[in-house]
Amino acid sequence: PIHKNKSLVMVPMRENGKLLPGIEVGKKIKKIGMNSSDTGLIYFDEVRVPQRYRIGAEGQGFIYQMQQFQEERLWCAASTLQSLTNCIQWTVEWAQERKLFGSTLADQQWVQFKLAELKAEVESLRALTYQACEHYVAGEDVTEWATMAKLKAGRLNRTVPDTCLQFWGGMGFTWENKVSRMYRDGRLASIGGGADEVMLGILAKMMGIAKRPQK
Ligand SMILES: Cc1cc2nc3c(=O)[nH]c(=O)nc-3n(C[C@H](O)[C@H](O)[C@H](O)COP(=O)(O)OP(=O)(O)OC[C@H]3O[C@@H](n4cnc5c(N)ncnc54)[C@H](O)[C@@H]3O)c2cc1C
Repeated sequence: PIHKNKSLVMVPMRENGKLLPGIEVGKKIKKIGMNSSDTGLIYFDEVRVPQRYRIGAEGQGFIYQMQQFQEERLWCAASTLQSLTNCIQWTVEWAQERKLFGSTLADQQWVQFKLAELKAEVESLRALTYQACEHYVAGEDVTEWATMAKLKAGRLNRTVPDTCLQFWGGMGFTWENKVSRMYRDGRLASIGGGADEVMLGILAKMMGIAKRPQK
């Protein structure tokens, strides 16, 4: 069957600093963010993989991957809470500092309301994530919770830095700015670990409004 034909394996790349036979490291890919983690092309050509390099049982790779996604998606939501909170806080401090025409940027009600709205959104994500974690700790299937938390985390990683960056003006458009880094790095949250649309697809299936693929 389609989901039983994959296994997880771990392959050492080098021995005594030298690449093992059949392994070739291609060039790195330049990304718009997440630059502390390299992404590049690695080729495996007829690489021998002994049984002892297999992780878990044979043919269970897809199942393990789907299971670990629940933790990865929960991690995505949980790990993002502090950076989103920081992003709003940095912007509050900046807005209070930035003087314009006899007052500060923070004196503008538009700015106050936008930042207040973002805080409410982030705290909603926090509540959702904590609830998901409680179900996880209780040993329940958290697919639906983790999916919703990941979806919301992806969305907020776009709207929070984007809204905040606007308030930093030209400084927000510079490479060194912390909010601009969040704008670039955070963009991955809507793509990695399953794109937003994939989260919506899972939810739609769990809600019974989308068909499940035939076995
Ligand atoms: C920096 C980085 C690090 C990564 N690290 C890892 C890693 O460590 N391990 C790992 O396994 N993977 C990793 N990935 C891969 C990542 O999980 C995938 O990029 C991601 O799941 C999206 O898959 P894709 O790129 O093949 O996009 P595609 O599947 O080609 O999708 C492209 C777009 O199409 C849309 N789409 C996709 N499916 C649907 C659908 N069913 N309905 C409607 N629209 C849809 C979405 O908008 C999606 O963004 C990493 C990716 C990046 C960029």
